[in-house]
Amino acid sequence: MAELRNPPGTFDVLPPDSGRWSALLATFARVAASAGYGLVVTPTFEDLAVFQRVGESTDVVRKEMYDFADKGGRRVALRPEVTASVVRAWVQHRPPTPWKTWYAGSNFRYERQQAGRYREFHQVGIEAIGSADPDLDVEVVAVGWDFYRAVGLDGVELLINSLGDATCRPAYREALLDYLRARLGQLCDEHQARLEENPLRVLDCKKAPCRAVVAGAPRQLDHLCEACAAHFARVVAGLDSLGIPHRIETTLVRGLDYYTRTTFEYCAPALETANNAVGGGGRYDGLVEEMGGPPTPAIGFALGVERILLALDATSAAAPAATAPLDVFVIDFAGGEAARDLSAALRRAGLRVDRAWDGRSTKAQFRAADRAGAPLAVIVGPDEAAAGSARIKDLRDGHERSVAAARVVAEVVDILRPTGGTG
Ligand code: AMP
Repeated sequence: MAELRNPPGTFDVLPPDSGRWSALLATFARVAASAGYGLVVTPTFEDLAVFQRVGESTDVVRKEMYDFADKGGRRVALRPEVTASVVRAWVQHRPPTPWKTWYAGSNFRYERQQAGRYREFHQVGIEAIGSADPDLDVEVVAVGWDFYRAVGLDGVELLINSLGDATCRPAYREALLDYLRARLGQLCDEHQARLEENPLRVLDCKKAPCRAVVAGAPRQLDHLCEACAAHFARVVAGLDSLGIPHRIETTLVRGLDYYTRTTFEYCAPALETANNAVGGGGRYDGLVEEMGGPPTPAIGFALGVERILLALDATSAAAPAATAPLDVFVIDFAGGEAARDLSAALRRAGLRVDRAWDGRSTKAQFRAADRAGAPLAVIVGPDEAAAGSARIKDLRDGHERSVAAARVVAEVVDILRPTGGTG
């Protein structure tokens, strides 16, 4: 029979490694909540139209989407990103603004598999819908910044730019097009073919010919209207005030078409992958309207979980601390009733408890307790079962005491309390 394996571009995350994942997600939830963002959960697949609205000319939508007709004949797509779904949800439910949410989940993009680039990957992110205040941009950028610090990822570089808005972008687009048309032959093949469709994309091209042309290209920052210029200046001043170092990167346009005004990317230079971005985001003041809602400004970011973990490995910074997996291991070689009942009682007291199965030998159960890394074992053999007692053994120092079965939970809690007992 053919061996069954996970599809290319996907991976399994197994314990104990998955401990880093849960620690990272817990940290994100804490940092987001500390700034007033509440969890939002949206479907992993949506009507195809939801994602088409984010920009038909982007690679994410044009080339990489997992879309298909379901058994009911509906055109659906696995989400390539979460912002579109969150905006769809806001337009559908119209919660009061400002609506500040965070999310965690997987996205799907049919990309060529390489280090740091997967077909199913995971993001954590925030979206804030309903305010054009530039200080909200500062808050959003700061939440991401504080999160990287909280997980111990040092050396993150923040790149920031403004893409202007509907007032000033069209004129800039024309100026850029004029410049690029005059140099069409010098662009890479893809951008020669697609220049008219999306000239801003060329700014982001990593290929040498395009980069050389872009070096002398007009910059959006020099073409901002007064309102966009004031907005950007306030954002930059806010980042300075919060002590968040940043570099203005005039060619930063990001991969999705819906961005306006502030765009930013967090990079981890320690990553030796082709793209070292560990996250990015920006304003999307036109997207709510694009999705059928009233004109409503908004901003958000998405951070790549896999890339952050790779970057943590590369900087050899301590991964998010994995806590001891267990508090207690119950060892029972008197028939199993004590293991069954004491495990449940200890868990109900809020402790993390495991045990062996299948009537394993005493020796095998002690080995399992060691492997599990629990500081305490509760031991019930035939003598203890007959006497209605149990032994509590501290596996760290071998110290052991005998207690009445009814006292086990209270004693264990006492020992594990940081300031009490022998623990
Ligand atoms: P984006 O909005 O496309 O820039 O995605 C935000 C972040 O998600 C990026 O900075 C990456 O860290 C991560 N990311 C995007 N695409 C992938 C992928 N195919 N595999 C792994 N991580 C990704």
